[in-house]
Amino acid sequence: MGKTVVDNPSKAMLRNPAQVESLVAAIFRAAGSSGAEARTIAEHLVDSNLVGHDSHGIVRVHKYVEWASDGLVVPNRHAQVVRDSGSAILVDGEFGYGQVIGREAMDLLAERVKKHGSVSLAIRNSGHLGRIGAWAERLARERIVSVHFVNTSGFGILVAPHGGSDRRLSANPIAAGTPTIDGPPIVLDMATSIIAEGKIQMMRNKGERLPANSVIDGSGAPTTDANLFYADPPGAILPVGAHKGSGLSFFCEVLAGALTGGFASNPDSPTCHRLVNNMLSIAFDPSTFESSDFFMDDVRRLAEWVGGSPPMKAGGSTLLPGELERQTRESREKHGIPVDSVTWLQLAATATRLGVPVSDCAQ
Ligand code: NAD
Repeated sequence: MGKTVVDNPSKAMLRNPAQVESLVAAIFRAAGSSGAEARTIAEHLVDSNLVGHDSHGIVRVHKYVEWASDGLVVPNRHAQVVRDSGSAILVDGEFGYGQVIGREAMDLLAERVKKHGSVSLAIRNSGHLGRIGAWAERLARERIVSVHFVNTSGFGILVAPHGGSDRRLSANPIAAGTPTIDGPPIVLDMATSIIAEGKIQMMRNKGERLPANSVIDGSGAPTTDANLFYADPPGAILPVGAHKGSGLSFFCEVLAGALTGGFASNPDSPTCHRLVNNMLSIAFDPSTFESSDFFMDDVRRLAEWVGGSPPMKAGGSTLLPGELERQTRESREKHGIPVDSVTWLQLAATATRLGVPVSDCAQ
């Protein structure tokens, strides 16, 4: 299948993931979180860096801390079950950290799947849920199959609908995961926007041009300048796969926003002043409809069949969903996580402001 991904260390300094995780946990403790909450947030963020999604990693720390000090995310909140019919559960996150709300909700979902076979769980009013694939992965490790639809109400509205020219939707990720019989889970984790906003932030930090045809400027014209995305009037991200991604994003709003009570995209919603993630998760025991043995065998066969397609180009690879992230994790666990200088300076400034000593966490 794939080849190993090696980061280009000239672009960023490699840092030791365990040391960075301790530093980030200390920052969140100093920002008012309990020790357990601080560790949960730090683990999730550094894990995103480990799998290569730097846009959902430690680059977020300074914003999260700023939101906490402005009361936009509330430390030490837990997933509150507000409706429960056994196999359909509604959880309110009460604007707590998404890393905690997501983890508690997924653990409840896993427990219920073991009892009922298939269960849907809706989360509304959560803080940023981070890398959504982490939730599918957590369930797959419990041998549960799942799909997740996410929207952002409030200030995550960044994406133009297909054919439109301004921000009406959010990056609205969809994730899905399955256990495999003898290997790691297979996890799809994708924004329905061509590029995640965090990646635009990262590219701006590194002074890189954006990929062509991913962003339009405030006048609706295509641009590769990350600064124009943040200009006034602001630019917008385009949906993935043109009209098809735009349609998928619309239904993320329906399923994660309207259905959960967390609000579909709406700049005038009661939560429009803060970043709120809502998520609908639907989860299955592999034996819900057929035997677990059939399911596991068929998934193994499918993975071999699809992954075995000869690469289109010499030296290329045919990857399964989540395979790139697995390869990146292997490499970064060994070599460290690359952190660009802007991200590091922001992290260090946040730590210093909170009285947390900063070491360089060099790998
Ligand atoms: P991406 O484009 O890097 O990857 C999308 C999917 O494609 C992944 O499952 C990946 O394994 C797969 N993939 C990548 N390269 C492949 C290849 N060559 N062949 C086959 N499959 C391949 O991800 P993204 O869409 O930029 O999303 C980045 C992260 O941002 C995700 O973790 C997502 O959950 C997160 N996100 C979160 C929010 C939020 O509101 N919390 C919003 C948007 C995005």
